[in-house]
Order: sequence, then structure tokens, then C-alpha cells
Amino acid sequence: MAKQTIGLCELCGRQDVLRTEHHLTPKEEGGTWLPTAFLCIPCHKQVHALYSNHELAVRLNTLDALRHDEKLVSYIKWIRKQPASKLVKTKKSRQRRKK
Ligand SMILES: [Zn+2]
Ligand SMILES: [Zn+2]
Repeated sequence: MAKQTIGLCELCGRQDVLRTEHHLTPKEEGGTWLPTAFLCIPCHKQVHALYSNHELAVRLNTLDALRHDEKLVSYIKWIRKQPASKLVKTKKSRQRRKK
């Protein structure tokens, strides 16, 4: 699995979300050294659920193209309303320790 970081999703624009690196041209289509974008996990899943690697490589290989694709526009509107905290699991252990 690719490295994950917390920050801004370049697709939906939400802050402080867990992100993964997305190859704008999939590696399978020769994009290993081409630009990547950091997308939150749901955005990344959505992109790959909607489009094949080939379609991404030929038609949707920029963030701008993705943002304006009609299939993603309504998804982005929806995900923007979702709180980022829902997706980042933080474990808080509240065990008391004896000193
Ligand atoms: Zn996102
Ligand atoms: Zn990807």
C-alpha cells in the first residue's frame, strides 16, 4: 500500500484527512514517473470505482479533468459535507496509570 499522510485532499478540498498518493496516469498505463495527487481515501476509492485505468490515463490525467467530470461533480458536492474526522480513526486510550 502506498504511503498515507494527513492533509488536504486535492480533489474534494477537505482539510486534515487521511490521504493516499494517486497516480494521475496509473502506473499500469505507464504513469510511474508522471505527476501524482494526494486524495483522501474515499475520493481515491471513488475515482477507481468510476473509471478504468485506461480511461484515467487518456481522459482524466489531471486534477482539473477529474474535478469537472460529471460523474465526480455530484460525489464531490456530497463528500465535502462529510466531516473529515469520521474517516480518521484515532485511538484514545484512557487508561489510568499508577504513579
Ligand atoms: Zn477527497
Ligand atoms: Zn489511484
